[in-house]
Amino acid sequence: MSIPEDDWAQATKLLGDCAEVVLACHVAPDGDALGSMIALGGALRRRGCRVIASWGSAPFEVPQAYGFLPDLDLLVPVEQVPAAPDLLVTFDTGSPDRLGLLADRVPSAGAVLVVDHHPSNTRYGTAHLLDPGAAATAVVVAELLDRLGLAIDESAAASLYTGLLTDTGSFRHASTSPSVHQLAARLLATGIRPDLISRAVYDSQPFGFVHLLGDVCSRAVLEPAAAGGLGLIWSVVEGVDLDRHGIGLADVEGVIDVLRTAREAEVALVAKRDPLEDCYRVSTRSKGAIDVGAVCTALGGGGHRFAAGFTSYGDVAGTLGEFRARLAQAPQLAM
Ligand code: AMP
Ligand code: MN
Ligand code: MN
Repeated sequence: MSIPEDDWAQATKLLGDCAEVVLACHVAPDGDALGSMIALGGALRRRGCRVIASWGSAPFEVPQAYGFLPDLDLLVPVEQVPAAPDLLVTFDTGSPDRLGLLADRVPSAGAVLVVDHHPSNTRYGTAHLLDPGAAATAVVVAELLDRLGLAIDESAAASLYTGLLTDTGSFRHASTSPSVHQLAARLLATGIRPDLISRAVYDSQPFGFVHLLGDVCSRAVLEPAAAGGLGLIWSVVEGVDLDRHGIGLADVEGVIDVLRTAREAEVALVAKRDPLEDCYRVSTRSKGAIDVGAVCTALGGGGHRFAAGFTSYGDVAGTLGEFRARLAQAPQLAM
């Protein structure tokens, strides 16, 4: 389902001649949240618009994997985001609570444009560019740039490619359509280097990450009977693991990608301790036969069918118990 023309018209009217805009993406931003936000922000700034961008969670540090992105100087800490912006644009954020400390800007802003691809999006804006069929929010932003007549130059391309790369799991997920590869080809034609971007995103972990991965993987649990017999693999990243290996929460995004390689499990789960918020940030993935997005939405989180998450304030046993129970009820999808 693509975006209705009326929605495009509203969005391009809001952004067409704006002099100032505030951009925000979801807490603990990933490659798509940051990449899609920075791509539009950089392009608007080059057109002469005053742009600031932020996200509402601590620590306010760009994850090391995304430190190579252009236009990161658009970013300001939450305290510097106006209390009532005329125009707020949100990226990759399905509901206001996912804006964290910036959630209160939604009711106070003059207009809120929501740019997203989460099927669970609650349509909390005054205008929406929402395409649940898009592989990444970056796909929606690419079309938005075209419709605004803003060039997709090397800078914008690097950011958009990062969103596309990370949200498709390096062009492996079911969302990897012909149009995804067509957009990737167009972005690469600007001269960006896919080898350098992949290296920065995936192959630039501190050495401590390798040891952390060893610890977390060695205590992974396989439950063959879970998910109606399709199997669940899960593990936990505790605060002590992060401390022992000198790793931040933002740097353990890739753990789930290793756990999910187990053939015996349809579903993978990693519970990551957030020492600042005193909770677990739970990441889940499926290989196509279970809608983990629906499972996580039922647990107060959200996401996509095969990649989703939720936040848990309980202990590990309780968190897994709730997840297992929901998973047992999830219908098996045809693949
Ligand atoms: P992650 O496991 O953090 O890579 O997230 C996978 C997908 O689930 C992304 O689309 C996230 O935006 C979404 N997601 C993760 N955690 C939550 C949450 N607590 N609430 C809603 N959506 C989430
Ligand atoms: Mn995201
Ligand atoms: Mn996304």
